Amino acid sequence: MSPGVTVLGRVGPEGPGVFVLYTGGTIGMVVGPGGGLVPLDLRELAAHVPVVHELPVGLTVATVAKPVDSATMGVTDWLRIADTIVEHAAGHLGVVVLHGTDTMAYTASALSFLLEGIDLPVVLTGSQRPITAVRSDGRENLVTSLELASARVNGGPVVPEVTVFFDHLLLRGNRAVKVSADSYQGFASPNLPPLVTAGVSFSPTLGLARPPQVGPVRRVSGLCSDVAALYLYPGLDRYVLDAVLARPGLRGLVLQAYGAGNGPTEPWFAQAIAGAVNRDVTVVVTTQCPAGAVRGGLYAAGAAMFDAGAVSAGDMTFEAALTKLMVALDRHDDPAEVRGLMVRDLAGELTG
Ligand code: ASP
Repeated sequence: MSPGVTVLGRVGPEGPGVFVLYTGGTIGMVVGPGGGLVPLDLRELAAHVPVVHELPVGLTVATVAKPVDSATMGVTDWLRIADTIVEHAAGHLGVVVLHGTDTMAYTASALSFLLEGIDLPVVLTGSQRPITAVRSDGRENLVTSLELASARVNGGPVVPEVTVFFDHLLLRGNRAVKVSADSYQGFASPNLPPLVTAGVSFSPTLGLARPPQVGPVRRVSGLCSDVAALYLYPGLDRYVLDAVLARPGLRGLVLQAYGAGNGPTEPWFAQAIAGAVNRDVTVVVTTQCPAGAVRGGLYAAGAAMFDAGAVSAGDMTFEAALTKLMVALDRHDDPAEVRGLMVRDLAGELTG
């Protein structure tokens, strides 16, 4: 059993069902003694969704020992979730992870790179309002995720990938981004159509879902946390960039650049990037734009970064680029191999 995870038991009919892991987030929160929202125990949460007892498949229900606000999650939590899925996926039709929305896109991205042999749906979901609230989006999100995780088409799973389900959209996990702190349409994948749109029935986008891999699900690497990220802004000065690059043991940096991959043209900027690359820091350039791709060197204002040795993240989300860099640095010591992995599509995160 993964440390810090308890299997609480089985709900509903016998036979292959869905493995449900509760990690925390608004979906399971109530107002705590200090007035802020704090996560509930899963047993109390389940009492608010009696309809799960009506589902045609059974649920194996598990929880982390201490459900958290996803704002507090990090590398250790991602590895725990990955290992729990590896341990329990076999014998189930699918997996549903209940998760806070704030960092759900990071967890989904990390899982998509950490896990191989994905032969069943792994659906992350959460909600904007607690499931205990009268007008909660959590019940719909949970029940539809359970249906998507267990549905079969021609005897196979609908979408055997790591995905995010929110509102009415099933999105590829490593393409998803949180786009609203208020709206029930809280997630989108601007560079990829939804894998499935859930209305009265499920409408898959034809030809988009990845084929099932050859199981069993396994974890194929760890995560290197010796990385940093910097959001470029007009007025950024060398002291800020130098401070980030001075982080002890730094091996990777994700720059959130402008537009197609542009940044400052002052010589100190390219020199600092070149200096970092020369000491084997992998520098990856993403775009601050919600949609579109980095096209290194399209403008002179971007060329200097790439001439200095930075690599383009293409149309990857920031969340995907960061977690993929963590995986690439864990797998390889040689920066050339890290760069090679960053520009290759590993799990549907990158176009072309
Ligand atoms: N802060 C919460 C979390 O990410 C927000 C949410 O779940 O919607 O855990």
